[in-house]
Amino acid sequence: MSGKMIVICAPSGTGKSTLLNRLKADIPDLVWSVSCTTRPIRQGEVHGKDYFFIKKDSFEEQIKAEEFIEWAKVHSNYYGTSKRFVTEGLLNNWNMLFDLDVQGADEMKRIYGDEAQVIFIEPPSIEELEKRLMARGTDSLEVIQERIKNARKELQKKDKYDHLVLNDDVDKAYGKLKSIVERILK
Ligand code: ADP
Ligand code: 5GP
Repeated sequence: MSGKMIVICAPSGTGKSTLLNRLKADIPDLVWSVSCTTRPIRQGEVHGKDYFFIKKDSFEEQIKAEEFIEWAKVHSNYYGTSKRFVTEGLLNNWNMLFDLDVQGADEMKRIYGDEAQVIFIEPPSIEELEKRLMARGTDSLEVIQERIKNARKELQKKDKYDHLVLNDDVDKAYGKLKSIVERILK
């Protein structure tokens, strides 16, 4: 049986990392795709675990060498998924888990169709999203404003994906996310 590709997509601040950390602990069988990014590392993040934090020059070299299956500029930084990781995963039938923005999710659907299942997580409102980004305290006001602007655009596309989860109450949202993932893996 072939492995599954599960793409989680949500506007920044929705609570995706919070939900994904629970999912990774509960379903260790999911192989996490560690993306490359040029954004600065946040407190508590680990190079090679959360992302490969690399310089802009080296990211651009990897684009030229076609080392990404997809890449995008999100909030003024580059983010990309390793082609080698996906190829290895497909060869070994891994169940792979991706955390991508809408551009990345669209690209995975374009390449893999229904083999890639996109779960979009939505916040209760833009106001609540802003509150969560402020409360997280990892980004400047300017960065938060940029993320909010982007969120408005991303939310317009939420209904076109395979699954939709509202992250209002975190336990409820996690229950729904887990049951969708278990259904996909069956
Ligand atoms: P993302 O990975 O989507 O950018 P995070 O997981 O970092 O978002 O969550 C952003 C902030 O919101 C964090 O401080 C987190 O603790 C908080 N948070 C996550 N889910 C909820 C929720 N359902 N209700 C309230 N706060 C939440
Ligand atoms: P953050 O900086 O908050 O970790 O992530 C910002 C956005 O970039 C999120 O929407 C996240 O899903 C997205 N992202 C992370 N890695 C990748 C990737 O490899 N490709 C794409 N297209 N988006 C990514």
